[in-house]
Amino acid sequence: MNPTFKLSKQPQENTKKRFYFNCSANAFIIFMACYYGLVINIPFMHGAFSAITSLHTFSWLFLFSVPLLLICLLIIFFSVVSIRGILKPINYLLLVLSSAALYGSLNYGVVFDYSMIQNTVETDSSEALSYLNLQLVGFLLLFAALPVFILSRIKINCARPYKEVISRLKLLLASFALIALVVVNFYADYAATGRNNRILKKEIIPFQYLSSGYKYARDQLLYSDIEFKNIDTTPTLASPSTTRVTVIVVGETARAENFSYQGYERNTNQYTQKHNVTYFDNVSSCGTATAVSVPCMFSLQTHANFSRLDSDNQQNVIDLIQQAGTDVLWVDNNSGCKNVCTRVPTINIDTKASELCDGKYCFDEALLAPLKHKLANLSQANTVIVLHMMGSHGPTYFKRYPEKFKQFSPTCDRSDIQNCSAEELVNTYDNTIAYSDFINAQVIEQLKALPANIDKQLLYVSDHGESLGENGAYLHGFPYAFAPTAQTHVPLYIWADEHNQRITAKCLNNLNSTLAQSHDAIFHTLLSLTGVASKTYQTSEDLLASCQTINHSETKI
Ligand SMILES: [Zn+2]
Repeated sequence: MNPTFKLSKQPQENTKKRFYFNCSANAFIIFMACYYGLVINIPFMHGAFSAITSLHTFSWLFLFSVPLLLICLLIIFFSVVSIRGILKPINYLLLVLSSAALYGSLNYGVVFDYSMIQNTVETDSSEALSYLNLQLVGFLLLFAALPVFILSRIKINCARPYKEVISRLKLLLASFALIALVVVNFYADYAATGRNNRILKKEIIPFQYLSSGYKYARDQLLYSDIEFKNIDTTPTLASPSTTRVTVIVVGETARAENFSYQGYERNTNQYTQKHNVTYFDNVSSCGTATAVSVPCMFSLQTHANFSRLDSDNQQNVIDLIQQAGTDVLWVDNNSGCKNVCTRVPTINIDTKASELCDGKYCFDEALLAPLKHKLANLSQANTVIVLHMMGSHGPTYFKRYPEKFKQFSPTCDRSDIQNCSAEELVNTYDNTIAYSDFINAQVIEQLKALPANIDKQLLYVSDHGESLGENGAYLHGFPYAFAPTAQTHVPLYIWADEHNQRITAKCLNNLNSTLAQSHDAIFHTLLSLTGVASKTYQTSEDLLASCQTINHSETKI
């Protein structure tokens, strides 16, 4: 084993003068392992060093064993994937993906676990483009394009297959020996540090996104044809003669702590305030990303046992409400309903159709026209309309509200939000919260305009929260167990008209809205709000249980 890099001063004829460097395959593997270990994994190294040096006592040898261990693991990894013939294409791909993961980690503190991979795959092109800015382009040129170019100029000299295998085995043996040495000496330190800093291992590039990507692809390809499960085939309307209109507003990226209802010092709820909504101040989300939270909140599954694969293949509460005889409409101004609306009539807001849209996005006011049209053409006694907002989706918060709704300034009018001041960022975000509040107030106004004999009600809930630079964290999508509360504490409120026969002002006032609740309650609360009796209903999970006059217990399991 003699890994060496050699500059080709006079390129050989058979290399067509294309290569500037020659190196052995082993030298290439060691070089890549060092590059990934010491450059691409800077966030992991920083986290590991911080965790170790913050201990009361720590050994310097343990500290320096971390990069050694990582490089050895990477040597094993690159030995496996550096297959003759496709060595370069594989490494081009890894360099591009890894640089993108490094950018996300350095700038937003995100890690690419399963739900982040899912969220990334389900992101539409407009959403993806909103991350594009000069800093990202410069970063990718430096960390993806340049390494790819350099790699294209390296000629990797592979020996005869037999010799190559022997040489590779020696390299692997040396790596395993070093790993064994580290483990034998520092096993207890690694176990303790790992246990107290579980997020660290999720930060290692490329292992994090490759293992999550593999699991996601496996679920999509292998298990996509699982049988559809009906959780209740006989949901019914508890009182079919009652005329009722329910609007469910699914918020996007609204975090509770920036709601004045939550005690926030700024008035970000000035529009709905006059409508007397009942706010629940202790609600946690199911996930930290849309692709998890939206399907989860409508699913009978809970945060504890949620599987997107299962939720995609069984009835959700919207299905049950429709099946009971309700006229359901889903109106989407986001990147889709994440398979929740697959079996109900759906309107996707056309981003090119009105002055409220810029061709890629629409302000949430675009949801109001289809709502108005639906309310003017009610066809059944029980109607449910879901409005899926664009809300406070980042990083381009400044594109979420029209200029006249710029209540707080100066704002951060760019997508590389980490380069804005904290004040600018929070101002911009608060403008999105206030604008969403305006939209919800408009929805309530539309409902109020309906005849008095119709029960009118609204439930608003956000899918997840957002980090706005606190402790260097931005956006959302962190692994749930490590996510800051800002990403999991969500606003939820319910409004009912003053003549509402079941959800009366008295019962709303008597609700205990400070109890710890979660998205798990949405499924059951929507059943009771819309007056649907189902064997799946659980009183203990219903936020409005004390308001009910209908008796679900007869049909309960
Ligand atoms: Zn979301």
